[in-house]
Amino acid sequence: MFNKDCLFCKIASGDVPSSCIYEDQLVYAFKDIAPQAPVHFLVIPKRHIDSAADINAENSRVVAHIFEIIAKLAGEQKLEGFRIVSNCGESAGQSVKHLHFHVLSGRDMTWPPG
Ligand code: AMP
Repeated sequence: MFNKDCLFCKIASGDVPSSCIYEDQLVYAFKDIAPQAPVHFLVIPKRHIDSAADINAENSRVVAHIFEIIAKLAGEQKLEGFRIVSNCGESAGQSVKHLHFHVLSGRDMTWPPG
């Protein structure tokens, strides 16, 4: 499903340019435009899902696939440690309403997050 008002739908379809690092039938991965760590990329389902709150039995297969791809990319990039983040809802910091997983690496991270 393509949402014409969604930035990440347009990025996944190529309508808006991005720095792609991986693509297959189900997912698209690209560099974050405002990196918060030396390595910062996003992995999204091509099909529009608003957020992690909208994952269900009908669409969850792509989420498992996203985690497989993150492990593959982290291995290829030889990331020593990395953090996966999905902000869900405005109060949690979600600014783009299309499910996405941040992958951050290359610096020490603090916990808990701010
Ligand atoms: P969130 O704030 O968790 O919704 O994450 C959205 C992320 O998308 C932010 O880290 C932004 O820097 C990133 N972003 C916004 N527009 C673009 C774009 N055109 N290309 C790449 N990353 C983007």
